Amino acid sequence: MIIRTVADLRAVARDWKAAGESIGVVPTMGALHDGHLSLARRARVECDRVVTTIFVNPKQFNNPEDLKQYPRNETADEVLLSTVPVDMIFAPSVDEVYPDGFITTVSMTGVAQPMEGHMRPGHFDGVATVVTKLFGMTLADRGYFGQKDWQQLQVVLRLVRDLNVPVEVVGCETIREADGLAMSSRNVRLTVAGRAKAPVLYAAISEAARDIRAGHADRMAIREAAETMRAAGFERVEYIELRDAETLMPSDDSRRTRRMLAAAWIDGVRLIDNIPV
Ligand code: AMP
Repeated sequence: MIIRTVADLRAVARDWKAAGESIGVVPTMGALHDGHLSLARRARVECDRVVTTIFVNPKQFNNPEDLKQYPRNETADEVLLSTVPVDMIFAPSVDEVYPDGFITTVSMTGVAQPMEGHMRPGHFDGVATVVTKLFGMTLADRGYFGQKDWQQLQVVLRLVRDLNVPVEVVGCETIREADGLAMSSRNVRLTVAGRAKAPVLYAAISEAARDIRAGHADRMAIREAAETMRAAGFERVEYIELRDAETLMPSDDSRRTRRMLAAAWIDGVRLIDNIPV
């Protein structure tokens, strides 16, 4: 069932709630792959009803070219979701989500500021705003998010705490290709040569994490990872950071749970990844 309007979505969701059913929402921007489906499958197990949203949210794109080139394939998405299966696909238009007169932004500091927040100004305000809206629209009890976007997951966890949003946020493992590359809708934009080099991102940060656990200096291990990536043909390493896993503040305290996060460009495509340290 594909639903386009908030009114129709709400009518169905209200009936589910009235019947005492729990609702899980899986927010996506479409161009679905196994990573997205793993979230939907988890929701299927844990909730009575599953809604997958497909909405390429213009407010979270700081780069108009990236928005224009973002892959869209609703027909294929529908087929993939029927294998889970989900109860509803909510795929609204931009005007439905942001009608004339829309002026509210959920704006966050702290965990939303470094790394992706720094490289992509306005990105997390766009994410926080649309996630707040999707939670409100779907009457969701649980929201499913991928660890692939670790900083986004921390932003959403913080958001529901700060605004008392009655949604349980569930973080799901990153699904990878056989060679280690994290699945991403943007991977289809890679050239054959770029696709061949792309797994070096995960390999390099994995090696750095191993070295750090073995007692090597954080900085040295990170520098080596960046070198490995440049040598493999990445044209730009935007950041490789070792951070407190929750606050995302810089952390040299190896007793805390830490996360290594990275962003880099290969053949004109920006890739991100992260791993526990
Ligand atoms: P997106 O469509 O890229 O906005 O992603 C929608 C949701 O799927 C987000 O919560 C992502 O973190 C999650 N996701 C994307 N790729 C993966 C992956 N490879 N493994 C697990 N979750 C993912």
